[in-house]
Amino acid sequence: MTTTSPSGDSVHTVVIGAGYAGLAAALSLVDNGTDVLVLEASDRVGGRVHSQRLDSGVVVDHGGQWVGPTQHRLLAAAERFGCATFPTYDTGDHLELWADGNCRPFRGAGPVDGPGVEQYVEATEAIDKLAVTVDLDNPGATERIAEWDSETVQSYFDRTVDDADARRRLALAVQGVWTVEPRDISLFHLLFYVASAGGFDQLMETAGCAQERRFVGGAQSVALAMAERLGEKIRLNTPVTHVEHSADGVRVDTDRGPVYASHVVVAASPGAAVRIRFTPTLPPSRNRWMERSPMGEVSKIHTVYDRPFWRERGLSGQATVYGDRNVGVVFDNSPEAGEAGVLVSFAYGDRQRRWAALPPAERRADILATLGAIFGDEATNPLAYTEKSWPEDRWAHGGYAANPAPGVWVEHGATGWRAPCGRIHWAGSETASVWNGYIDGAIASGQRAADEIIAAATP
Ligand SMILES: Cc1cc2nc3c(=O)[nH]c(=O)nc-3n(C[C@H](O)[C@H](O)[C@H](O)COP(=O)(O)OP(=O)(O)OC[C@H]3O[C@@H](n4cnc5c(N)ncnc54)[C@H](O)[C@@H]3O)c2cc1C
Repeated sequence: MTTTSPSGDSVHTVVIGAGYAGLAAALSLVDNGTDVLVLEASDRVGGRVHSQRLDSGVVVDHGGQWVGPTQHRLLAAAERFGCATFPTYDTGDHLELWADGNCRPFRGAGPVDGPGVEQYVEATEAIDKLAVTVDLDNPGATERIAEWDSETVQSYFDRTVDDADARRRLALAVQGVWTVEPRDISLFHLLFYVASAGGFDQLMETAGCAQERRFVGGAQSVALAMAERLGEKIRLNTPVTHVEHSADGVRVDTDRGPVYASHVVVAASPGAAVRIRFTPTLPPSRNRWMERSPMGEVSKIHTVYDRPFWRERGLSGQATVYGDRNVGVVFDNSPEAGEAGVLVSFAYGDRQRRWAALPPAERRADILATLGAIFGDEATNPLAYTEKSWPEDRWAHGGYAANPAPGVWVEHGATGWRAPCGRIHWAGSETASVWNGYIDGAIASGQRAADEIIAAATP
């Protein structure tokens, strides 16, 4: 059914947001013969995935960038649209820099005899054992959800891990994967996320895991190809401000007038969706879910050099940084053929807030000082420098993803997480059972929301 409109457009389904979730929802509906209109607030598609070609021709990914071998939906979309991938550079020694200036080479999880490594590995194995009991499709049915959602990850580590260095390693892992501090999330959310990825190592590692491959044209290339297929069905620069909904249909208001539809898919991040007004008001559980799921805090900083000089010294370009420095992790983000050298530095949680509060020149100096301490003086003289602070992004409000606060899964998960509210359907990587918080999960969520609508239309 398409609701008839007194004035304004009318379609069967409006999709709010042209990130991977919205694009996947729209493509699934179009493949099913359903009339769709995608309303996107910004001037581009891709959302939290944003690739930029620098003047030198080097492509940098300010947002999501990696794809792993079990991320079947993203790989299928890349194959459908002919977007090539290549292995992340993972050859040679990684480095870890400690507060005392000690810079140790390592391979795998950490130096075999490094501080806290043994207990760190034991702790991650213990997490995996608990995570396999999480019910991914019905998290509320997990036997120990009430207990685990009542405890922060910080208090769990304090309680179960004696070694302070192991706790430092675990804290950096939490920052790196969830872009928050261990005090910010519950043990249950951590376990759910680990289970949704297929294990702790899947989240952390490169070969065979989430960081295995990159896109030749940048991770946005698949989104751009999906958008090309949708053509005129996407309207950019069209923020949705208000959704009015009833048993008969929905009216979606934008600065450019209303659109009438039978169903709407909200595929904006929780941080953006909570800023849209709904009439009548959404059920309290859905509102609370969005209000109490703040977006993570991360910045990505790229430095570009004439060549990946660290490789000449047998280094992978991957580094982890402990202590008070603002950079947490560094990766080699050079183009496939290595015709230029690119390092990407990540700042998350407390580090991100400290770093983002600095004036621009100090931010740059801060990053280069850490890269110099890890890779030597050559790292302090990049040809180009770019930074992207996601909490300041107007339409994402943060990243990588939203993290429900302690208690939210158990209090509001059953109906607030992704259950449709009448004709309103929820998509977005945060609503995925598998690869929650990742591009692959975003695609899965869009396809699930489309299936809900197709099922509702089937007599
Ligand atoms: C720095 C960073 C690194 C990451 N690294 C990886 C990685 O390597 N691999 C990986 O798989 N994932 C990664 N992620 C996570 C991944 O990018 C996201 O989970 C995924 O892209 C989310 O897609 P989405 O469609 O659910 O949401 P979004 O991408 O946020 O899309 C939502 C869209 O809705 C639009 N919108 C918002 N408000 C409105 C409104 N009122 N009206 C209309 N439109 C609106 C937004 O502009 C946006 O285009 C990373 C994320 C970040 C930020």
